[in-house]
Amino acid sequence: MSDIRVRFAPSPTGQIHIGNIRTALFTWLYARKHNGTTVLRIEDTDQERSTSEFEEIILQETDWLGLDWDEGVRAGGDYGPYRQSDRLDIYDKYIDRLIEEDKAYYCYCTDEELEQMREEAKAKGKPPKYNGRCRNLSEEERKELEAEGREPAVRFKMPTEEIKIVVNDLVHGEVEFSSEVLDDFVIVKSDGLPTYNFAVVIDDHLMEISHVIRGEDHLSNTPKQQLIYDALDWEMPEFGHLPMILGEDKSKLSKRSGEAYVYVSEYRQKGYLPEALINFLALLGWSSADDEELFTVEEIIDNFSMERVNNSPSVFDVEKLNWMNGHH
Ligand code: GLU
Repeated sequence: MSDIRVRFAPSPTGQIHIGNIRTALFTWLYARKHNGTTVLRIEDTDQERSTSEFEEIILQETDWLGLDWDEGVRAGGDYGPYRQSDRLDIYDKYIDRLIEEDKAYYCYCTDEELEQMREEAKAKGKPPKYNGRCRNLSEEERKELEAEGREPAVRFKMPTEEIKIVVNDLVHGEVEFSSEVLDDFVIVKSDGLPTYNFAVVIDDHLMEISHVIRGEDHLSNTPKQQLIYDALDWEMPEFGHLPMILGEDKSKLSKRSGEAYVYVSEYRQKGYLPEALINFLALLGWSSADDEELFTVEEIIDNFSMERVNNSPSVFDVEKLNWMNGHH
């Protein structure tokens, strides 16, 4: 095994869709190509929307496709537990550390107060950002707010001066963000559960993930995560954000996209072959060295390279998938 460790980190808040599985596939291919380790982590901190049924479907569909996980909810391993709801004590420890180091703070604002703040900012033509109201509360002020029965959230302290945050992405190259677009974002909600951006950093670090490969929809979260890595003095993994998959009409793949089904279970139920779906998804957003189209999984692994992932959205061509399905 090499030092390459990748993870697929789905949230069990819905049926696993074609975008998720493409992320799972590219993650898996990268590890298999480099003799690395694949980790499956269930990100279920959104307790209201996460269900064990959806978790089961994720496991079932990745099994069907033959994407196996060296560590994870079923496989176990050295870095578990692999379900975020089982790791809350771990996150607490790092929250305490950030608060002690004055890099995060308790925020007692209610939803109504936050809404009012947004409205006020909007009225002044400013972006609806948190205004830092709880940033410098004294111990006494905090006690008073707690006595009112308010449950605090925890916010990350953004640098006060404007800074540039550069994400070095394997697919998109250097992507620059300004801290101006960010505010003191929430890292623990008032129900005590960590937010995605916080838990993901803690887990990727502790699970020694070397490469974070995920959908482009998370690119704008990456500057926040980089700031958390910096605040904890941790080295960052490499990031690679895969372009979106679009329906044939170039709109986001959705229920209305016709033959390009959204959910992986639909392909299984319609009798598609897992090898054909893998072949098709592997070539979606990735150009092989020659014009050849039909590949076995072994050949895809041999040929795979993140450098060849396109940085523009890929269009789901159902006819091509059907053709591949007929030839596998
Ligand atoms: N849990 C996130 C999702 O399902 C994935 C986040 C990540 O890969 O960093 O969108």
